[in-house]
Amino acid sequence: MAGRFQAPKGTFDVLPAEAQRRARIYVAAATLFARAGYGRIDTPVFEDTELFARGVGEATDIVSKEMFTFDDLGGRSITLRPEATAAICRAYVEHGMHKLAQPVKLWTWGPFFRYEAPQAGRFRQFHQIDVEAIGSDSPLVDAEQVILLDELLRGLGVDGIRLRLSSLGTAASRAEYREELKAYLRAHESELSGEVRSRIDANPMRAFDADDPGTRAVMAEAPRMIDRLAEEDAQHFAEVRGHLDRAGVEYELDGTLVRGLDYYTRTVFEFESDRLGAQAALGGGGRYDGLVEEVGGPEAPACGWAAGIERILLAIGEGDEEPAAGVFVVAADGQRERAFAIAVELRRAGLAADLDLAGRSVKGQMKQANRVGAARTVILEEDGSAQLRDMGSGDQRAVDPAKIVEEVS
Ligand code: AMP
Repeated sequence: MAGRFQAPKGTFDVLPAEAQRRARIYVAAATLFARAGYGRIDTPVFEDTELFARGVGEATDIVSKEMFTFDDLGGRSITLRPEATAAICRAYVEHGMHKLAQPVKLWTWGPFFRYEAPQAGRFRQFHQIDVEAIGSDSPLVDAEQVILLDELLRGLGVDGIRLRLSSLGTAASRAEYREELKAYLRAHESELSGEVRSRIDANPMRAFDADDPGTRAVMAEAPRMIDRLAEEDAQHFAEVRGHLDRAGVEYELDGTLVRGLDYYTRTVFEFESDRLGAQAALGGGGRYDGLVEEVGGPEAPACGWAAGIERILLAIGEGDEEPAAGVFVVAADGQRERAFAIAVELRRAGLAADLDLAGRSVKGQMKQANRVGAARTVILEEDGSAQLRDMGSGDQRAVDPAKIVEEVS
Protein backbone atom coordinates (compact mmCIF):
# COMPACT_ATOMS: atom_id res chain seq x y z
CA MET A 1 0.00 0.00 0.00
CA ALA A 2 1.29 3.44 -0.86
CA GLY A 3 2.16 5.63 2.15
CA ARG A 4 -0.31 8.33 3.08
CA PHE A 5 0.85 11.92 2.80
CA GLN A 6 0.62 14.45 5.61
CA ALA A 7 1.16 18.21 5.63
CA PRO A 8 4.91 18.82 6.18
CA LYS A 9 6.13 19.14 9.77
CA GLY A 10 5.22 22.50 11.29
CA THR A 11 2.60 23.30 8.63
CA PHE A 12 -1.19 22.89 8.64
CA ASP A 13 -4.22 23.04 6.38
CA VAL A 14 -6.76 25.79 6.94
CA LEU A 15 -10.19 24.13 6.72
CA PRO A 16 -13.38 26.13 6.04
CA ALA A 17 -14.49 26.75 9.66
CA GLU A 18 -11.02 28.04 10.50
CA ALA A 19 -10.85 30.03 7.27
CA GLN A 20 -13.98 31.87 8.39
CA ARG A 21 -12.34 32.80 11.72
CA ARG A 22 -9.28 34.05 9.82
CA ALA A 23 -11.40 36.07 7.45
CA ARG A 24 -12.89 37.92 10.43
CA ILE A 25 -9.39 38.96 11.53
CA TYR A 26 -8.54 39.98 7.99
CA VAL A 27 -11.62 42.19 7.63
CA ALA A 28 -11.02 43.83 11.03
CA ALA A 29 -7.39 44.55 10.12
CA ALA A 30 -8.13 45.84 6.60
CA THR A 31 -10.84 48.17 7.93
CA LEU A 32 -8.65 49.52 10.73
CA PHE A 33 -5.59 50.11 8.52
CA ALA A 34 -7.56 51.76 5.72
CA ARG A 35 -9.04 54.15 8.29
CA ALA A 36 -5.51 55.10 9.38
CA GLY A 37 -4.26 55.64 5.82
CA TYR A 38 -2.22 52.45 5.38
CA GLY A 39 -2.17 50.98 1.85
CA ARG A 40 -1.90 47.28 1.10
CA ILE A 41 1.39 45.94 -0.29
CA ASP A 42 2.28 42.40 -1.31
CA THR A 43 5.84 41.25 -1.81
CA PRO A 44 7.02 37.82 -3.03
CA VAL A 45 7.16 34.94 -0.54
CA PHE A 46 10.83 34.46 -1.45
CA GLU A 47 13.70 36.92 -1.79
CA ASP A 48 17.46 36.91 -2.30
CA THR A 49 18.99 35.33 0.81
CA GLU A 50 21.34 38.29 1.13
CA LEU A 51 18.43 40.67 1.81
CA PHE A 52 17.56 38.89 5.06
CA ALA A 53 21.17 38.20 6.00
CA ARG A 54 21.91 41.91 5.78
CA GLY A 55 18.54 43.27 6.88
CA VAL A 56 17.62 40.98 9.76
CA GLY A 57 21.23 40.34 10.81
CA GLU A 58 23.63 37.38 10.45
CA ALA A 59 23.87 36.82 14.21
CA THR A 60 20.12 36.62 14.85
CA ASP A 61 18.42 33.26 15.54
CA ILE A 62 16.28 33.82 12.46
CA VAL A 63 19.17 34.14 10.02
CA SER A 64 21.65 31.82 11.71
CA LYS A 65 19.33 28.84 12.17
CA GLU A 66 15.73 29.31 11.07
CA MET A 67 15.72 30.18 7.37
CA PHE A 68 14.40 27.99 4.56
CA THR A 69 17.24 28.66 2.14
CA PHE A 70 17.93 26.86 -1.13
CA ASP A 71 19.58 27.37 -4.49
CA ASP A 72 17.14 27.76 -7.36
CA LEU A 73 17.80 26.07 -10.70
CA GLY A 74 19.70 29.16 -11.84
CA GLY A 75 22.09 28.84 -8.90
CA ARG A 76 20.73 31.86 -6.94
CA SER A 77 20.43 31.58 -3.19
CA ILE A 78 16.76 32.05 -2.35
CA THR A 79 15.09 32.26 1.07
CA LEU A 80 11.43 31.88 1.97
CA ARG A 81 10.67 35.11 3.79
CA PRO A 82 10.97 34.77 7.60
CA GLU A 83 9.56 38.27 8.20
CA ALA A 84 8.11 41.16 6.20
CA THR A 85 10.06 44.31 7.05
CA ALA A 86 13.25 43.74 5.05
CA ALA A 87 11.28 42.95 1.89
CA ILE A 88 9.00 45.97 2.31
CA CYS A 89 12.10 48.19 2.66
CA ARG A 90 13.49 46.55 -0.46
CA ALA A 91 10.24 47.39 -2.31
CA TYR A 92 10.29 50.97 -0.92
CA VAL A 93 13.75 51.47 -2.43
CA GLU A 94 13.09 49.54 -5.65
CA HIS A 95 9.98 51.59 -6.46
CA GLY A 96 11.47 54.94 -5.46
CA MET A 97 8.82 55.42 -2.77
CA HIS A 98 11.08 57.92 -0.99
CA LYS A 99 9.89 60.38 -3.66
CA LEU A 100 6.29 60.09 -2.47
CA ALA A 101 4.88 62.12 0.43
CA GLN A 102 6.45 60.70 3.60
CA PRO A 103 5.88 58.63 5.54
CA VAL A 104 4.73 55.86 3.22
CA LYS A 105 2.29 53.74 5.23
CA LEU A 106 1.91 50.12 4.20
CA TRP A 107 0.46 46.88 5.49
CA THR A 108 0.51 43.27 4.41
CA TRP A 109 -0.83 39.83 5.35
CA GLY A 110 0.48 36.44 4.37
CA PRO A 111 2.54 33.33 5.07
CA PHE A 112 6.02 33.46 6.60
CA PHE A 113 8.52 30.67 7.12
CA ARG A 114 10.90 29.81 9.95
CA TYR A 115 12.59 26.49 10.57
CA GLU A 116 11.68 26.27 14.27
CA ALA A 117 10.78 23.35 16.53
CA PRO A 118 6.99 23.20 16.17
CA GLN A 119 4.84 23.45 19.30
CA ALA A 120 1.52 25.04 20.29
CA GLY A 121 1.44 28.45 18.60
CA ARG A 122 4.76 27.91 16.80
CA PHE A 123 4.88 26.69 13.24
CA ARG A 124 7.26 26.53 10.30
CA GLN A 125 4.71 28.18 8.02
CA PHE A 126 2.71 30.76 9.95
CA HIS A 127 0.85 33.93 9.05
CA GLN A 128 1.41 37.52 10.01
CA ILE A 129 -0.31 40.85 9.69
CA ASP A 130 2.37 43.45 9.22
CA VAL A 131 2.28 47.25 9.33
CA GLU A 132 5.10 49.62 8.33
CA ALA A 133 5.47 53.42 8.07
CA ILE A 134 8.64 54.46 6.28
CA GLY A 135 10.09 57.97 6.06
CA SER A 136 9.35 59.69 9.37
CA ASP A 137 11.12 59.75 12.72
CA SER A 138 8.17 61.38 14.49
CA PRO A 139 7.21 59.76 17.81
CA LEU A 140 3.62 60.09 16.57
CA VAL A 141 4.32 57.26 14.14
CA ASP A 142 5.46 54.93 16.95
CA ALA A 143 2.38 55.82 18.98
CA GLU A 144 0.01 55.47 16.01
CA GLN A 145 1.32 51.99 15.36
CA VAL A 146 1.13 50.78 18.96
CA ILE A 147 -2.44 52.10 19.10
CA LEU A 148 -3.32 50.28 15.86
CA LEU A 149 -2.21 46.91 17.22
CA ASP A 150 -3.89 47.60 20.55
CA GLU A 151 -7.17 48.44 18.78
CA LEU A 152 -6.93 45.43 16.51
CA LEU A 153 -6.44 43.01 19.41
CA ARG A 154 -9.14 44.60 21.56
CA GLY A 155 -11.59 44.82 18.65
CA LEU A 156 -11.13 41.10 18.05
CA GLY A 157 -11.84 40.32 21.70
CA VAL A 158 -8.35 39.16 22.68
CA ASP A 159 -8.26 38.98 26.49
CA GLY A 160 -5.43 39.21 28.98
CA ILE A 161 -3.33 41.61 26.89
CA ARG A 162 -0.07 42.98 28.24
CA LEU A 163 2.03 45.59 26.39
CA ARG A 164 5.78 45.82 27.08
CA LEU A 165 7.57 48.92 25.87
CA SER A 166 11.20 49.94 25.76
CA SER A 167 13.77 51.87 23.78
CA LEU A 168 17.00 50.52 22.33
CA GLY A 169 18.54 53.88 21.49
CA THR A 170 20.34 54.52 18.22
CA ALA A 171 22.96 52.30 16.61
CA ALA A 172 25.80 54.42 18.03
CA SER A 173 24.61 54.45 21.64
CA ARG A 174 23.77 50.77 21.41
CA ALA A 175 27.27 49.92 20.16
CA GLU A 176 28.69 51.56 23.26
CA TYR A 177 26.18 49.78 25.49
CA ARG A 178 26.93 46.42 23.85
CA GLU A 179 30.58 46.75 24.88
CA GLU A 180 29.52 47.46 28.45
CA LEU A 181 27.15 44.47 28.40
CA LYS A 182 29.80 42.17 26.92
CA ALA A 183 32.23 43.14 29.68
CA TYR A 184 29.52 42.49 32.28
CA LEU A 185 28.70 39.08 30.76
CA ARG A 186 32.38 38.12 30.62
CA ALA A 187 32.75 39.00 34.28
CA HIS A 188 29.91 36.52 35.01
CA GLU A 189 30.81 33.90 32.40
CA SER A 190 30.80 30.94 34.78
CA GLU A 191 27.16 31.62 35.79
CA LEU A 192 25.83 31.77 32.18
CA SER A 193 24.43 28.95 30.02
CA GLY A 194 26.74 27.56 27.33
CA GLU A 195 24.53 28.99 24.59
CA VAL A 196 24.66 32.53 25.99
CA ARG A 197 28.40 32.24 26.69
CA SER A 198 29.11 31.19 23.10
CA ARG A 199 27.30 34.26 21.79
CA ILE A 200 28.62 37.01 24.05
CA ASP A 201 30.41 38.59 21.11
CA ALA A 202 27.87 37.91 18.37
CA ASN A 203 24.64 38.82 20.15
CA PRO A 204 25.02 39.75 23.83
CA MET A 205 21.53 41.29 24.12
CA ARG A 206 19.84 37.96 23.47
CA ALA A 207 21.01 36.97 26.96
CA PHE A 208 17.96 38.89 28.23
CA ASP A 209 15.72 36.27 26.56
CA ALA A 210 17.49 33.22 28.07
CA ASP A 211 15.40 30.78 30.11
CA ASP A 212 18.01 29.12 32.30
CA PRO A 213 18.01 30.26 35.97
CA GLY A 214 21.76 31.04 36.10
CA THR A 215 21.63 33.42 33.16
CA ARG A 216 18.38 34.96 34.40
CA ALA A 217 19.94 35.76 37.77
CA VAL A 218 22.89 37.43 36.04
CA MET A 219 20.62 39.38 33.70
CA ALA A 220 18.45 40.66 36.54
CA GLU A 221 21.45 42.75 37.62
CA ALA A 222 22.76 43.54 34.12
CA PRO A 223 23.06 47.13 32.85
CA ARG A 224 20.03 48.13 30.73
CA MET A 225 20.03 50.05 27.47
CA ILE A 226 16.98 51.98 28.64
CA ASP A 227 19.15 53.59 31.37
CA ARG A 228 21.85 54.49 28.82
CA LEU A 229 19.80 56.39 26.23
CA ALA A 230 21.36 59.45 24.61
CA GLU A 231 19.52 62.71 25.29
CA GLU A 232 17.70 62.76 21.91
CA ASP A 233 16.64 59.12 22.17
CA ALA A 234 15.36 59.61 25.70
CA GLN A 235 13.37 62.63 24.50
CA HIS A 236 11.93 60.65 21.58
CA PHE A 237 10.92 57.85 23.93
CA ALA A 238 9.33 60.27 26.40
CA GLU A 239 7.22 61.70 23.58
CA VAL A 240 6.08 58.25 22.45
CA ARG A 241 5.04 57.47 26.04
CA GLY A 242 3.24 60.79 26.33
CA HIS A 243 1.17 60.07 23.21
CA LEU A 244 0.29 56.61 24.49
CA ASP A 245 -0.66 57.97 27.92
CA ARG A 246 -2.97 60.55 26.38
CA ALA A 247 -4.54 57.85 24.17
CA GLY A 248 -5.21 55.76 27.29
CA VAL A 249 -3.02 52.83 26.20
CA GLU A 250 -1.52 51.02 29.19
CA TYR A 251 1.98 49.60 29.00
CA GLU A 252 4.82 48.38 31.17
CA LEU A 253 8.29 49.82 30.73
CA ASP A 254 10.53 46.80 30.35
CA GLY A 255 14.26 47.30 29.88
CA THR A 256 14.74 43.56 29.21
CA LEU A 257 12.76 43.70 25.95
CA VAL A 258 15.26 43.27 23.11
CA ARG A 259 13.38 41.46 20.30
CA GLY A 260 15.06 38.96 18.05
CA LEU A 261 15.99 41.12 15.08
CA ASP A 262 19.04 43.33 14.69
CA TYR A 263 17.47 46.26 12.88
CA TYR A 264 15.58 47.88 15.74
CA THR A 265 16.46 51.35 17.01
CA ARG A 266 14.70 53.48 19.62
CA THR A 267 11.15 52.28 20.39
CA VAL A 268 10.46 48.55 20.69
CA PHE A 269 7.25 46.94 21.92
CA GLU A 270 5.57 43.60 22.29
CA PHE A 271 2.00 42.57 23.03
CA GLU A 272 1.46 39.35 24.96
CA SER A 273 -1.58 37.47 26.13
CA ASP A 274 -1.73 35.46 29.33
CA ARG A 275 -4.05 33.02 27.46
CA LEU A 276 -1.16 31.72 25.39
CA GLY A 277 1.23 29.83 27.70
CA ALA A 278 4.82 29.48 26.57
CA GLN A 279 4.46 31.22 23.20
CA ALA A 280 2.87 34.34 24.71
CA ALA A 281 3.83 36.91 22.08
CA LEU A 282 0.91 38.11 19.97
CA GLY A 283 2.91 40.63 18.04
CA GLY A 284 5.49 43.32 18.30
CA GLY A 285 7.79 45.64 16.52
CA GLY A 286 9.44 48.98 16.78
CA ARG A 287 11.50 51.57 15.03
CA TYR A 288 14.19 50.68 12.49
CA ASP A 289 15.79 53.95 11.48
CA GLY A 290 18.77 52.43 9.64
CA LEU A 291 17.28 49.52 7.72
CA VAL A 292 16.31 51.27 4.49
CA GLU A 293 19.89 52.50 4.10
CA GLU A 294 21.17 49.05 5.04
CA VAL A 295 19.33 47.57 2.04
CA GLY A 296 20.69 50.20 -0.33
CA GLY A 297 18.20 53.04 -0.03
CA PRO A 298 18.29 56.65 1.15
CA GLU A 299 18.12 57.66 4.79
CA ALA A 300 14.53 56.83 5.81
CA PRO A 301 13.64 56.35 9.47
CA ALA A 302 10.79 53.90 9.89
CA CYS A 303 8.63 51.97 12.33
CA GLY A 304 6.56 48.80 12.05
CA TRP A 305 5.14 45.71 13.69
CA ALA A 306 4.02 42.19 12.93
CA ALA A 307 1.38 40.11 14.69
CA GLY A 308 0.86 36.34 14.42
CA ILE A 309 -2.55 35.27 13.11
CA GLU A 310 -2.31 31.81 14.71
CA ARG A 311 -1.48 33.37 18.08
CA ILE A 312 -4.43 35.75 17.80
CA LEU A 313 -6.72 32.83 16.92
CA LEU A 314 -5.43 30.87 19.93
CA ALA A 315 -5.96 33.83 22.24
CA ILE A 316 -9.50 34.45 20.97
CA GLY A 317 -10.44 30.78 21.45
CA GLU A 318 -13.10 28.85 19.57
CA GLY A 319 -15.90 31.28 18.81
CA ASP A 320 -19.39 30.33 17.65
CA GLU A 321 -19.48 29.89 13.95
CA GLU A 322 -21.90 31.99 11.96
CA PRO A 323 -24.31 29.71 10.07
CA ALA A 324 -24.64 30.37 6.34
CA ALA A 325 -28.26 31.54 6.95
CA GLY A 326 -29.23 31.19 3.30
CA VAL A 327 -31.93 29.33 1.38
CA PHE A 328 -31.83 25.59 0.74
CA VAL A 329 -33.78 24.38 -2.29
CA VAL A 330 -35.39 20.99 -1.58
CA ALA A 331 -36.48 18.93 -4.61
CA ALA A 332 -39.16 16.21 -4.64
CA ASP A 333 -38.94 13.47 -7.34
CA GLY A 334 -38.55 14.92 -10.81
CA GLN A 335 -37.77 18.43 -9.52
CA ARG A 336 -33.97 18.33 -9.30
CA GLU A 337 -33.30 20.20 -12.52
CA ARG A 338 -35.67 22.97 -11.45
CA ALA A 339 -34.09 23.08 -8.00
CA PHE A 340 -30.70 23.58 -9.60
CA ALA A 341 -32.02 26.34 -11.89
CA ILE A 342 -33.65 28.10 -8.91
CA ALA A 343 -30.48 27.88 -6.79
CA VAL A 344 -28.48 29.42 -9.65
CA GLU A 345 -31.10 32.15 -10.07
CA LEU A 346 -31.09 32.94 -6.33
CA ARG A 347 -27.29 33.18 -6.31
CA ARG A 348 -27.37 35.47 -9.35
CA ALA A 349 -29.78 37.67 -7.40
CA GLY A 350 -27.12 37.93 -4.67
CA LEU A 351 -28.66 35.48 -2.17
CA ALA A 352 -26.93 32.59 -0.41
CA ALA A 353 -28.52 29.44 -1.84
CA ASP A 354 -27.65 25.76 -1.68
CA LEU A 355 -29.15 22.43 -2.74
CA ASP A 356 -28.59 18.71 -2.43
CA LEU A 357 -25.85 17.34 -4.67
CA ALA A 358 -25.84 13.78 -3.34
CA GLY A 359 -29.22 12.30 -4.36
CA ARG A 360 -30.81 12.51 -0.88
CA SER A 361 -34.51 11.83 -0.21
CA VAL A 362 -36.72 14.82 0.64
CA LYS A 363 -36.29 13.96 4.32
CA GLY A 364 -32.52 13.73 3.84
CA GLN A 365 -32.54 17.08 2.06
CA MET A 366 -34.36 18.74 4.99
CA LYS A 367 -31.71 17.32 7.34
CA GLN A 368 -28.98 18.65 5.08
CA ALA A 369 -30.65 22.09 5.09
CA ASN A 370 -30.40 22.05 8.89
CA ARG A 371 -26.80 20.89 8.80
CA VAL A 372 -25.69 23.77 6.59
CA GLY A 373 -27.57 26.24 8.78
CA ALA A 374 -30.13 27.32 6.15
CA ALA A 375 -32.55 29.94 7.50
CA ARG A 376 -35.25 28.95 4.99
CA THR A 377 -36.06 26.18 2.52
CA VAL A 378 -37.86 26.32 -0.79
CA ILE A 379 -39.61 22.96 -1.23
CA LEU A 380 -40.45 22.01 -4.83
CA GLU A 381 -43.30 19.48 -4.70
CA GLU A 382 -43.79 16.65 -7.21
CA ASP A 383 -46.84 18.41 -8.69
CA GLY A 384 -44.80 21.54 -9.50
CA SER A 385 -46.09 23.66 -6.59
CA ALA A 386 -43.69 25.30 -4.15
CA GLN A 387 -43.56 25.95 -0.39
CA LEU A 388 -41.37 28.43 1.50
CA ARG A 389 -40.45 27.23 5.00
CA ASP A 390 -38.86 29.19 7.81
CA MET A 391 -36.46 26.72 9.45
CA GLY A 392 -36.47 28.56 12.76
CA SER A 393 -40.22 28.84 13.40
CA GLY A 394 -41.33 25.97 11.15
CA ASP A 395 -43.88 28.31 9.49
CA GLN A 396 -44.58 27.27 5.94
CA ARG A 397 -46.63 28.81 3.13
CA ALA A 398 -47.34 28.16 -0.54
CA VAL A 399 -45.50 30.46 -2.95
CA ASP A 400 -45.86 31.08 -6.68
CA PRO A 401 -43.34 28.65 -8.28
CA ALA A 402 -42.70 31.16 -11.09
CA LYS A 403 -41.75 33.95 -8.65
CA ILE A 404 -39.49 32.25 -6.15
CA VAL A 405 -36.68 34.80 -6.28
CA GLU A 406 -39.14 37.64 -5.58
CA GLU A 407 -40.81 35.64 -2.80
CA VAL A 408 -37.51 34.85 -1.14
CA SER A 409 -35.96 38.33 -1.49
P1 AMP B 1 8.60 38.49 15.23
O1 AMP B 1 8.81 39.02 13.86
O2 AMP B 1 9.51 37.34 15.57
O3 AMP B 1 8.50 39.50 16.29
O4 AMP B 1 7.15 37.83 15.16
C1 AMP B 1 5.98 38.60 15.22
C2 AMP B 1 4.84 37.72 15.64
O5 AMP B 1 4.67 36.66 14.72
C3 AMP B 1 5.07 37.01 16.97
O6 AMP B 1 4.69 37.84 18.03
C4 AMP B 1 4.18 35.82 16.84
O7 AMP B 1 2.84 36.17 17.15
C5 AMP B 1 4.26 35.48 15.38
N1 AMP B 1 5.24 34.40 15.13
C6 AMP B 1 6.58 34.51 15.00
N2 AMP B 1 7.14 33.31 14.76
C7 AMP B 1 6.13 32.42 14.70
C8 AMP B 1 6.04 31.02 14.46
N3 AMP B 1 7.12 30.27 14.21
N4 AMP B 1 4.82 30.43 14.49
C9 AMP B 1 3.71 31.17 14.74
N5 AMP B 1 3.72 32.49 14.96
C10 AMP B 1 4.91 33.12 14.94
